[in-house]
Amino acid sequence: MSNILTRKYIQAVVLAGVFFLVSCTQNSLTGKRQLTMIPEAELQSLASSQYNDFFKTHAVVNQKTNANAAMVNRIGTNIAKAVNRYYASNKKSAVLNGYQWEYNLVNDNAVNAWCMPGGKIVVYTGLLPVTINENALAVVIGHEVSHALLQHGNQRMSGSMLQQLGGMTLSVALSSKPAATQDIFMQAYGVGTEVGLMLPFSRKHELEADRYGLIWAAMAGYDPNEALAFWDRMEKASGGQQVPEFLRTHPSDAIRKEKIKSYLPEALRYRGK
Ligand SMILES: [Zn+2]
Repeated sequence: MSNILTRKYIQAVVLAGVFFLVSCTQNSLTGKRQLTMIPEAELQSLASSQYNDFFKTHAVVNQKTNANAAMVNRIGTNIAKAVNRYYASNKKSAVLNGYQWEYNLVNDNAVNAWCMPGGKIVVYTGLLPVTINENALAVVIGHEVSHALLQHGNQRMSGSMLQQLGGMTLSVALSSKPAATQDIFMQAYGVGTEVGLMLPFSRKHELEADRYGLIWAAMAGYDPNEALAFWDRMEKASGGQQVPEFLRTHPSDAIRKEKIKSYLPEALRYRGK
């Protein structure tokens, strides 16, 4: 590294450290400290407009006439109720105040699903041949909802904004660099990517989302054991080669399944609660 690069690198590290100290919050689920620079309410309002924009280019499948779209709505509703019960029993309902849950199936062959802050969920029709059954789709929706609740997207977006926009606030960024800010948002939430479910958060975040996702699925009355068969099918569907190596930060399939096995007893204790 040249001297200039070294200095820039040190500056970036110091800047990140300072922001970590001033912007550290505690996650409501895990109690862990994390770097979330963006107030959740601001992120939810951005999510709400991005969610509506998304449907300008993606056809929503009608929930009244299509059984799969109705299933997405049914699972989403059950998962949201489970999350609400969990937070209520931990006296943390206030955390969910800004949540206005929505669930939509869109016509798109990508093997993908995501949940934006505030509970804005989309499932792609391309995922359904892999989930096959309602239990597996509940596991996936539970997983995506967990990313939102665990503020993984917020952390990812905070990091990108720090790196690319020098840590300006979201409102300043939106008014001065709206396109760049929206791009960062869409990337942070895996929206519109071809790699879909396979473009993941960090290994740590993926496993954390797996763990809580199994709990929501179980509480909502689904069988979380189906997660193992689902990840088997994902492994086959992905064929192991079309994900570029640099994107392969997700837990290897074997590690993921081992971890899921270890999380299942905890999830099953919540079944029907
Ligand atoms: Zn994930």
